[in-house]
Amino acid sequence: MTTETPSKPIPEPDDASAPFWEGSLEGKLRLMRCTACGIARLPAREHCDACLSTEYEWFDASGGGSIRTFGVMHQKYHPGFYDELPYTVAIVELDEGPRLPTNIVGLAGKKAEVGMRVIVDWERHDDVALPKFRPA
Ligand SMILES: [Zn+2]
Repeated sequence: MTTETPSKPIPEPDDASAPFWEGSLEGKLRLMRCTACGIARLPAREHCDACLSTEYEWFDASGGGSIRTFGVMHQKYHPGFYDELPYTVAIVELDEGPRLPTNIVGLAGKKAEVGMRVIVDWERHDDVALPKFRPA
């Protein structure tokens, strides 16, 4: 990494999301699950959208999912991403239900497709690791 390359914007964990980001550093995709109705949710929030319960637990998701939708970015929007153009932005539907905005990496010449099976692939930074996905 050169000092001339502007860095990417990186998420800053807060109290609600801290367990998610702690899990990321261990390579675990950690989600909240409502203990009243069982629905998994992401991002972290205090109540369940399905039943409004405030009871929940954290659990480690499988890391698997499928591409719900995607786009390939060719435009230079942020200097931190110039070296990665073109890159794929996607919504991945996790096997546990929640949909996660992310990038598809490791395509190695393949084209992303809606419905493509993917698996989490962590991009490590100093204090967090970002959940990206590659073909399964
Ligand atoms: Zn619920």
